[in-house]
Amino acid sequence: MRLNRREFIKLSGLLAAGGIVPPALLSGCSSRRLPGTGKLTATPTVCDICFWKCAGTVHVEDGLPWKVVGNDDDPHSTGRLCTRGTGGLGAYEDRDRLRQPLLRVHQNGKQTFKPVSWDEAFGFIAGKMQTIAEKHGRDRLALLAHGSGGSHFERLLKAYGSHAYAHPSFAQCRGPREVAFGLTYGEGVGSPDRTDMEHSRCVVLVGSHIGENLHNGQVQTLIDAINQDATLITVDPRFSVAAGKSKYWLPIKPGTDIALLLAWINVLINEGLYDKDYVARYTVGLDQLTQHVQPFNPEWAYLETGLDPELIRDTAYAMAASAPATLVHPGRHVTWYGDDTQRERAIAILNALLGSWGRKGGFYIQEKVDLPAYPAPQPAKPETDWKAVVQPEFPLAPTGISQKILQACAGPEAYFKGLFVYGTNLPHTIPDIKATLEAAADNLDLFVVIDTLPAEITGYADVVLPECTYLERYDDLRNSPERVPSLALRMPAFEPSHDTRPAWWMARQLAVRLELGEYFPWDDYADVLDWQLKQVGSSLEEMQASGVKRYPRKTPLYFADRQDIRFQTPSGKIELYSRTLAEHGYDPLPVYTAPEKPAENYYRLNYGRGPAHTFGRTTNNPLLFELMPENAVWVNPRVASQWQLKNGDYVQLKNQDGVISNRVRVRVTERTGANAVFMVHGFGHTARGLRLTSGVGADDAGLMTNVKLDPIMGGTGMRANFVTFVKA
Ligand code: SF4
Repeated sequence: MRLNRREFIKLSGLLAAGGIVPPALLSGCSSRRLPGTGKLTATPTVCDICFWKCAGTVHVEDGLPWKVVGNDDDPHSTGRLCTRGTGGLGAYEDRDRLRQPLLRVHQNGKQTFKPVSWDEAFGFIAGKMQTIAEKHGRDRLALLAHGSGGSHFERLLKAYGSHAYAHPSFAQCRGPREVAFGLTYGEGVGSPDRTDMEHSRCVVLVGSHIGENLHNGQVQTLIDAINQDATLITVDPRFSVAAGKSKYWLPIKPGTDIALLLAWINVLINEGLYDKDYVARYTVGLDQLTQHVQPFNPEWAYLETGLDPELIRDTAYAMAASAPATLVHPGRHVTWYGDDTQRERAIAILNALLGSWGRKGGFYIQEKVDLPAYPAPQPAKPETDWKAVVQPEFPLAPTGISQKILQACAGPEAYFKGLFVYGTNLPHTIPDIKATLEAAADNLDLFVVIDTLPAEITGYADVVLPECTYLERYDDLRNSPERVPSLALRMPAFEPSHDTRPAWWMARQLAVRLELGEYFPWDDYADVLDWQLKQVGSSLEEMQASGVKRYPRKTPLYFADRQDIRFQTPSGKIELYSRTLAEHGYDPLPVYTAPEKPAENYYRLNYGRGPAHTFGRTTNNPLLFELMPENAVWVNPRVASQWQLKNGDYVQLKNQDGVISNRVRVRVTERTGANAVFMVHGFGHTARGLRLTSGVGADDAGLMTNVKLDPIMGGTGMRANFVTFVKA
């Protein structure tokens, strides 16, 4: 759809004009003293480059950024940051950062952004919000958010009268896992993942490329397991870094993981290798499961997966031999083929048979600090249940589904009239969403984007609010459920650059203008943090010095032997057979469906992370860009020879629906099979304001026009796309 009312605006010219390169980037080594010899300050932070939230310390020398290092007391990082976290200073130094609020205006028959004051921007937004409330109702405003500051806009939304928000991390990432484990155990895996790999004797990775995907603490515990000679089993069509460290590598045919998981369950049950006491004590549904898996022996699985039946048996024996210290890892980004909740259910069931949930070397019991909320009135709940209107087909989704919210912003009958997007570049996050986004932009009465960078999403907004980076602001205390309860402080290491501000300040300013200030009873967020810390025996002053405070556990880390446990499922047991799924008309036990086959000369598009980049936002970070300036498409030598492609050639990729990518470099490697190609996510930006990365590499999300919707929780399966080559 062509944009009418709200045209897509490219920010490049506007932002490039007068763009100032930060002095730290221009100065070079020669003009600075030796690092560490100037006037130094050290400030606590919590890394925001990915969601692992490692605590660290920012070292500033003579007012200029020097380095950021891990905090030794931090259970998330144990004193070490990953490559990306170490490069976090680049987010502060990025010359392309948004600098001031921008308002969409019409000039000479064209739409453009005009830099405005905060007062003008807030006045515009508050006016539109008031009109929406009067004309349509307060529940017609929605929020899509990713990242720490999103909580402040959630508070604003609730105070205003709407509970309609979603995090793309649910429907585009780990939602199937959380729903599947919730159905099976009554609770999800959570973040950080409650995997006890440091004590595992056997770790099974199904498509998880830990080591390339640097979830810091998790990588460290996997290395601990490997150093202690744990058996590593990696299931991946690609020879990943983890596969290279594994005793068993299972190069499975893409899309057939459930077949393998069912065969493993078949072997464990039929050969009596499951934990009989644990299963009898804690689970329901073994009889139905036993009957269900009878046809799915390793010989059957061989025909689907291409894996030798003996390899399937041997790996099942290896898992059983180390149980319960065997962890079948649930993965993190698991929205692949649309049957993802069922695949995650199969993983949850396999872990239950091995007795690993709540056991050392399997899944530990998480605990966090009992941190009171700052005293403030609680807004009333809206009368309408927006989920019943916007996503009624997914009653088992415990939270908002981002693409459903966006669909409910598009079209003349749209439910939502206003949308806030915080910290998430939707065109690169939600697959096949561009047309919906354009229709939403054409239709909404208010479209606000809050970000640090002029990413593609900003081009759709009425108002762009520039947030300062995580190195320039306070945020909520990090209080993640973990092995060791702890709090960590993020505080400003620098004054906000340009005319940027923190999210807590923006949300409060808007609330005051809307006469909702009572829900934000503070002037400075530091006061909120200090009050909270004092309730748990600390203070802001103490945390400004230490950055992290650990607390003793109040509950055990694992189940006691033969402990009586009531799980939070309807039966109070671990549900191998899910009555909830049956009652909602879904398969109560995981069912395998063979994946679609590619047309001739098409290859499945696999994607993942590289160690230098997390999301599209890190590719413009000058420090991380230097480490990995472009992505490459991995091509098997057989395929490369057929297409006469050499290492370093550039090609374009064309998907099954004719969408053609930007040009991308070829990497010829045996590490991917002949039926698939692979690329690192986050490249192929078109926003010209991202001057380093715009036009570089290919965008995997842009090639995902075949999206397989998970019927249970609305996840967008993204691995059902095939590409062929167009010579560049
Ligand atoms: Fe930062 Fe790396 Fe930790 Fe993520 S894993 S929070 S990028 S240091």
